[in-house]
Amino acid sequence: MKIAIVIGHTERAKGAYSPHLKMSEWDFWNKVVDGLHNVKVFRHNPKLSGYTNRIKQTAAKLKSYDLVIETHFNAASPEANGCETLYYFKSLKGRKYASLFSEIVSASTGIKLRNRGLKALVNENDRGFAAVYYPAPPTILIEPFFGSNARDCQKIGDACNMQNIILSFMAAIQK
Ligand SMILES: [Zn+2]
Repeated sequence: MKIAIVIGHTERAKGAYSPHLKMSEWDFWNKVVDGLHNVKVFRHNPKLSGYTNRIKQTAAKLKSYDLVIETHFNAASPEANGCETLYYFKSLKGRKYASLFSEIVSASTGIKLRNRGLKALVNENDRGFAAVYYPAPPTILIEPFFGSNARDCQKIGDACNMQNIILSFMAAIQK
């Protein structure tokens, strides 16, 4: 099983900043993937203008993979919390992996599931749609916690703990 991880956002626009982790999405996930060896890591081209263009260019490199994971964390009001994994609504495998990933996050951290841990992306107006739509393999966009929620961040702990969760997930799907 060949797994690709795509780091959400770019070096230039690093996504949400977590005041609790004191890190942006970009910095957090780059730290998480640092010690992952059985997986290929991709980053969007920051020089290419346009969100969809960047996604398409990255997607063109992902054709030979069995699963694509695009990494994010959520951010909203301080109260909002929970784990949610997004997938393209027509992808049955995407849904299966999304469900499993959310279950593993929740079981290992105690972070609650939002909407049973699943969010189906249906059309281009849905945030994150391009990221799960353009890659040919089943793709999940992971938002395992809210960087804006103190409790969620406490439960996630740090990048090293998140790395262990990713490893548990990869072990579970190799079976
Ligand atoms: Zn993000």
